[in-house]
Amino acid sequence: MVSDVRFAELTTLHVGGPIERLVTGTTQRDLVDLAREAWSSGAPWLVLGGGSNLLVGDDGFAGTVVRVATRGIEVLPGGDDGASVLLRVQAGESWDELVAFTVDRGYSGIEALSGIPGSVGAAPVQNIGAYGQELESTLVAIEFLDEFADEPRRMTAAELELGYRTSVLKRGLPGIVISIELRLHDTSAERAVLGEALGQPIAYGQLADALHVQLGDRVPIASVRQSVLALRAAKGMVLDDTDLDSVSAGSFFTNPIVSERVSRTLPGAAPRWYLAPDEPDAVLPLAGGLAQSPLDEFLALEASFEASDTVTDAGAGEPLVKLSAAWLIEQSGIHRGFTLPGSRAAISSKHTLALTNRGGASADEIVQLARFVQHRVQAEFGIVLHPEPVLVGIEL
Ligand SMILES: Cc1cc2nc3c(=O)[nH]c(=O)nc-3n(C[C@H](O)[C@H](O)[C@H](O)COP(=O)(O)OP(=O)(O)OC[C@H]3O[C@@H](n4cnc5c(N)ncnc54)[C@H](O)[C@@H]3O)c2cc1C
Repeated sequence: MVSDVRFAELTTLHVGGPIERLVTGTTQRDLVDLAREAWSSGAPWLVLGGGSNLLVGDDGFAGTVVRVATRGIEVLPGGDDGASVLLRVQAGESWDELVAFTVDRGYSGIEALSGIPGSVGAAPVQNIGAYGQELESTLVAIEFLDEFADEPRRMTAAELELGYRTSVLKRGLPGIVISIELRLHDTSAERAVLGEALGQPIAYGQLADALHVQLGDRVPIASVRQSVLALRAAKGMVLDDTDLDSVSAGSFFTNPIVSERVSRTLPGAAPRWYLAPDEPDAVLPLAGGLAQSPLDEFLALEASFEASDTVTDAGAGEPLVKLSAAWLIEQSGIHRGFTLPGSRAAISSKHTLALTNRGGASADEIVQLARFVQHRVQAEFGIVLHPEPVLVGIEL
């Protein structure tokens, strides 16, 4: 029997069809038991947090959706080394409420990630980032329940292979993030001297401008949060019931990473950022070598796909360059507010990278618009834009 809940009610894009079976874990024990029950049924399953990075098709999902609603923020005893604190946070906590909690306490390290919608458990999935900070710089480990495992195990941040809006979780390692551990800077000693808690050095030009400081300066942590929230609101990038531009999944496309050679084919005005040289390639064991665990096999396999998936035509050792997806879209003739004739999906009126639902759009209308943007950019610049949200029942 199909439940009467649709993804449209549980995602920030407000699109997506019916959910066959929806279960909600409010305690860690519940969550583990519900997941194991779903896995043992053999039917398809999907984890759901706040639904802010998901585009689900109009046909919905024929399987079990496990919604994560566990709560709890702990400052771990013994984790305080005088300069930093260790926090364990349950996956169902709201990410932004966590940031507000840390800012109130004067713990710095995630203040620039204020206003990102969604749950704590989804944060490592795409290594959330904004305004010069990424989760990666504070994440120590996660508690992870592998598909078919009886109990959660600890995975260190290094094992997650976090990258620009990606991780082994986003690339398909099946399971559920149960909780995360973060190490944040404890500013209390500094506060005793200065009278206020300072955030981490500002690492994003637009944020520095808004705060009237230089890159690398430190300002009160509460001001960083306030400025980031204001900047985000001006772009429709905080959820707001009165702002149709926020009915989105955030940035719909990632910034493409291409070889320097490909980047030279673009007009001189195209924004570009050189990336630090790559780590040396992992050496994969020869067939018949040492036995690998299922996790090792998965990591080796997906590492071999990753390079070709995200990087366009880069020879070994060639420098890589990150491009601006927003610039490419605008320069291909698609402007803010753009919509296809008769469609209820539109480019945000504040930000070219967000695809929005102007009221009653179907998933298919969002998909048509996304394909149009991809085709325009590819026709103009030969560059393929990749979607940032997780797609379910949809291919682009
Ligand atoms: C207005 C707006 C602004 C945004 N701005 C940003 C931004 O600045 N930076 C940024 O990085 N992102 C941004 N996003 C994207 C989104 O908020 C983040 O990716 C967020 O972490 C998604 O959390 P969620 O709980 O809503 O995940 P969901 O959408 O529910 O799920 C996303 C994916 O994670 C998986 N998942 C969720 N929870 C778990 C779990 N506990 N264990 C395992 N897998 C799980 C799901 O199966 C799915 O594959 C924005 C989105 C919106 C709507």
